[in-house]
Order: sequence, then structure tokens, then C-alpha cells
Amino acid sequence: MTTIGETQPAKHQEVGHKSLLQSDVLYQYILETSVYPREPQPMKELREVTAKHPWNLMTTSADEGQFLNMLLKLINAKNTMEIGVYTGYSLLSTALALPDDGKILALDINRENYEIGLPIIEKAGVAHKIDFREGPALPLLDQMVDDVNFHGSFDFIFVDADKDNYLNYHKRLINLVKIGGVIGYDNTLWNGSLVAPPDAPLRKYVRYYRDFVLELNKALAADSRVEICQLPVGDGITLCRRVC
Ligand code: SAM
Ligand code: CA
Repeated sequence: MTTIGETQPAKHQEVGHKSLLQSDVLYQYILETSVYPREPQPMKELREVTAKHPWNLMTTSADEGQFLNMLLKLINAKNTMEIGVYTGYSLLSTALALPDDGKILALDINRENYEIGLPIIEKAGVAHKIDFREGPALPLLDQMVDDVNFHGSFDFIFVDADKDNYLNYHKRLINLVKIGGVIGYDNTLWNGSLVAPPDAPLRKYVRYYRDFVLELNKALAADSRVEICQLPVGDGITLCRRVC
């Protein structure tokens, strides 16, 4: 393990995991002490497969996967939705947390990446909980909002897709999550860029989505239909508990 004072990049940076902790060494300590030793074998396998993929920066970090898994068990989630699957790390952490008759409606425009993780999800014996739909999430959400049977039907919804649509998702998801249920918006601290000075050298996509994340955070803070909790886990996750 790297020790304080060493200049080598910490290991989690090799696969693009972001930490908002001041100390990368401390983040590595958390991973090595509390996360990796308790990570279920299929999640470890999926993490390792994903690390070899060119877009591995998109994957949910192992500490956030552990957090989601615990949260779902704490709220006894059974019927859930995930927007933004990629290779399926957060999906697998969700599937492992749900009871055997639990359900996840999983939406992504890209099936190819989901298929990278699918054999591992199948081997873990949880694929029957997943209903994967390929395509943009918004039209499907509109269909669900038009059908009262879906209203208030989800215990938990994890949003981890196109950040410029998060507010559009929120407008619809607030109808679909049950009162007392939770929506989790991921990457709400956007790599720390939210507080960067205007002339900071940000990557193009970071700069582009930054304004959408800033707008989302303001809107969620002002939305009396939800209680919120902003957690600095991973790249920041905002939990919204529907109250009315
Ligand atoms: N939760 C995933 C994990 O644990 O690895 C990471 C998701 S990744 C950050 C974002 C995903 O959102 C990509 O797989 C991308 O294809 C998907 N996506 C982008 N735009 C979308 C849209 N309009 N509807 C559904 N999925 C979309
Ligand atoms: Ca994410």
C-alpha cells in the first residue's frame, strides 16, 4: 500500500475511480480495509473486467457499490430502477441486495456494454431480477408516467446517465417513486468542478455538464416534495426521499 508522502498515484486512480477525499492514500485505505475484503466475488470479477474497458472511468466505484448495496437492504427495496447501466457494476450491487423476487428495470442506450457484465451477473444467479431495456430513458419514463399503474411503484431509483437530463428525469421520477422511496442521483459533485474558478482548466465534457449539475443541485435543494442528503461518496450522490 502507498504511504503518506509518496508521490505515486494511488491504485484506485489506475482505473479512473474518483475520490473527493483530500487524501488519495486515505481513500486507498478505505478500499483496502473495508471495501475490497467484503466485496462479493462476482462484483470483484465485474470490476476487474470493467477495468480493462476503455471507458472504465464511467464505472461505479467499489465503495459506492458497497454503499448502494447496504442502502437497498436498509430500506428493504424490492422494486427498483436504474438509468445508466454501462457494464453493470451498480446494477449487480443492486441485484445482490434485493430479495429473490426483487426487480430492477435497467435502462441504457448501449446494450453492448451491459453484455460485458451479463455473464458474471448470470453466474451470480441474479439475472432473473433484471429487466434490461435498450434505448433512451426519457421516452420510456414518459410512457410510464402516462400509466397510473406505475405511479408510486418504485422503492428506489438510481440515476447515473446523461447529466444534462437529470432534471428532466426528476420531473418524471418524482411520480414513479413511492412516497417514502428514494431516488439517488449520481455524480452530483462532478469531480469537484462545481467549485472550480471560472478559468480552471477543466476537460471539455466536465465543463459542459458542470452547469447542469449545478442547476440540478439547486433545484433539488429547493424541491419540497423530497428530503435530500448530499453524500461525498464516489463522485457525490444525492439521495432524495419523496415525502409527498
Ligand atoms: N451505473 C453504471 C455503473 O455502475 O457502471 C455507470 C453508468 S455510466 C456513468 C452512464 C451510462 O448512461 C452509459 O452506459 C450510457 O450509455 C448511458 N446513457 C447515456 N445517455 C442515456 C440515455 N439518454 N438513456 C439511457 N442511458 C443513457
Ligand atoms: Ca456515476
